[in-house]
Amino acid sequence: MSAAEDWGLALRGSHLAAAIDRITEPWSNAIIRAAFLGARQFEMFQQALDIPRQTLSLRLRGLVEMGLLRRHQYQTQPVREEYRLTSLGKDLYGNVLTSWLWDRRWGDPHQLMPKKLVHRRCSHACTPLLLCPHCTEPLSLDRMQPVLAASAMPVALRTERNRRWRKPPSTGGPTLERDILAVIDDRWSLLLVAAATLGLSRYDEFAQALAISSAVLAQRLQRLCLLDVLRSQPDPDDARRARYLLAPAGTALFPYLLTLSAWGQALANAPDTIAWVHSPCGQTTRGQVACSHCRQTLLPQEVVRPAAPTKTKLND
Ligand SMILES: [Zn+2]
Ligand SMILES: [Zn+2]
Repeated sequence: MSAAEDWGLALRGSHLAAAIDRITEPWSNAIIRAAFLGARQFEMFQQALDIPRQTLSLRLRGLVEMGLLRRHQYQTQPVREEYRLTSLGKDLYGNVLTSWLWDRRWGDPHQLMPKKLVHRRCSHACTPLLLCPHCTEPLSLDRMQPVLAASAMPVALRTERNRRWRKPPSTGGPTLERDILAVIDDRWSLLLVAAATLGLSRYDEFAQALAISSAVLAQRLQRLCLLDVLRSQPDPDDARRARYLLAPAGTALFPYLLTLSAWGQALANAPDTIAWVHSPCGQTTRGQVACSHCRQTLLPQEVVRPAAPTKTKLND
């Protein structure tokens, strides 16, 4: 087997892939974010996201079935229900924070997420940081080494689900706006970025690693290049071919992928197939999302937003 196949098998059987399979339905991430920003009732989600009512209904039901939201009856006459995050849903907080961080640095300016966060525990404005719990240094891709875990067993090839490529909700106009939802709402895009973090860069390597059809692969690579998450350059070994390397915005998705992979652990019933070793300390870790000021782990109940978030990007 080639290295691309080895990594591909490991990636497809990883906790990250398990997590990606749960929350890459378009709108799911946006709904989870809105829930963390305080939306509970159907109308609140609808207003915040400007999502078609039928789609919202379907997605909320899906998120309840997946165990990320639960229905809560808050009124009896007439019966009214709201949606609350379950503990599995709340465990996505670190992941929501890393997506917020990416959007703040790399996304287009108008977005759903608050501009500023304050850590109640230390009373300081904070930026979430993904820190190594062993040496407390921030984790970045250039200082991490992926390792195939001994438990990496070949997994059955996933058949591509019959999922049509839909335009992500944030991409309204003719120009391609960039926010993290444009990447993370699409399973193949996220798996491609993950494959790139493992060092794969050639079309054939991606095709082998992900067992993806060439039409889908070509479309996703083109889109990720348009978003400037990947950049293509001629292959030094064969100038007729291209290599697809992570652009800075792509490299910056690494903390997001690590937090997602940590979340995926709760969904998996086997050890992870890929481990990440932090080069400075030599320890295996997926990091902890911490406050930039006091370096304590950020918990949802301890983070406040000083200004009300813009309710919807469509209202501005
Ligand atoms: Zn470390
Ligand atoms: Zn703090």
